[in-house]
Amino acid sequence: MTSPRDYYEVLGVDRDADEAEIKKAYWNLARKYHPDVNPGDTDAEAKFKEINEAYEVLSDPEKRRRYDLYGRNGQASADGGWSPDFGGFDPFGGIFEAFFGDTVFGRQRTTAGPVRGDDLRYTLTIDLAEAASGTTRTIEFTRVGICRQCYGHGTAPGTSRMKCPECGGTGRVQSVSSTPFGMFTRVTTCSRCGGDGTIIEKPCPGCGGSGRQKEPAQVEVTVPPGVDTGAKLRLRGEGDAGLRGGSSGDLFVEIIVRPHDAFVRDGDDLRVKVPISFPQAALGAELELTAIDGSRVTLKVKPGTQSGQEIRIKGKGMPSLRGYGRGDLVAEVAVVIPTSLSRRERELLEELAALQGDSGAGIGKGKAGKRGKKSKRSPFDVFKWNSDARSDGMA
Ligand SMILES: [Zn+2]
Ligand SMILES: [Zn+2]
Repeated sequence: MTSPRDYYEVLGVDRDADEAEIKKAYWNLARKYHPDVNPGDTDAEAKFKEINEAYEVLSDPEKRRRYDLYGRNGQASADGGWSPDFGGFDPFGGIFEAFFGDTVFGRQRTTAGPVRGDDLRYTLTIDLAEAASGTTRTIEFTRVGICRQCYGHGTAPGTSRMKCPECGGTGRVQSVSSTPFGMFTRVTTCSRCGGDGTIIEKPCPGCGGSGRQKEPAQVEVTVPPGVDTGAKLRLRGEGDAGLRGGSSGDLFVEIIVRPHDAFVRDGDDLRVKVPISFPQAALGAELELTAIDGSRVTLKVKPGTQSGQEIRIKGKGMPSLRGYGRGDLVAEVAVVIPTSLSRRERELLEELAALQGDSGAGIGKGKAGKRGKKSKRSPFDVFKWNSDARSDGMA
């Protein structure tokens, strides 16, 4: 019967022992307690079985992981109905051949081997600010997991797999057929057990014998700072569970970064359009902006700034995915021309226009309204204020 001892204790190794240590410990113990060495000694036999059980689990990374997570119940039914996954291999017969070879308990199976679970894909949409700072999200989805009732064995609670009566546990059947040319022996994979050598006598009511079941999953995803749309994060082993002891598939989380109202990403830089008034552009100004990380930055508009001009603020863009440095915040200035003017504004602008018309200050040379008289016209003539124009929406 299964002993409740801890598998690590059984083999006398630390919990962080590596494969070689586990193999060595098993080797020493199995040689000591092997039934061939201790004929008729039931204690040794029990011990040998216990050692094999422990080794069966601890030598398989996936089973070991499950054991570390769930303990013994992650492997076998709670009542101790341990069914070692030998695939019809009898650990008490001819073990030394397998034992001294490279593959201890090498799978004797022909067809029904472990199958890795499917990979899954999940699309995660995050804000630009989250992409900038990095974030942790718990995502929920449905996957095929190990059945919680039978822990993947497919057998009803309290029962275990039984030797296939069709093939006697070999997984293969022989058929002899007589032909005019003589008797032919054909060896085929057993159709009853699929080559496994064992069958489920009473299937688990939870999964119908497949050992797997759909389950809701919650997985925490750590999104690194600097991700962009299309980035794929791989979470190993978070996909569908494998079949017959196969490892789980992976979960791929594909990132979509929601477009921001103001910031547009350009590599690691962020671009933003900043509207300023004509006086601000002409006279210069200091504007406050909130950067993507929430910090306040001052945008210095120099006197005489033109529409479309870029002001670069170093290090206020997106963090680099490579883990060092940050892009810049690039503010593109847009001088906004008012679409309606108050009486006073209009007066002031007309005054300015008259002044510029007289002096030509800041807008090329020559007087307004004298176009065509000079052979070389200023390219800025078209931008001169036209005081005759009527503004819509004027008060
Ligand atoms: Zn069979
Ligand atoms: Zn089940």
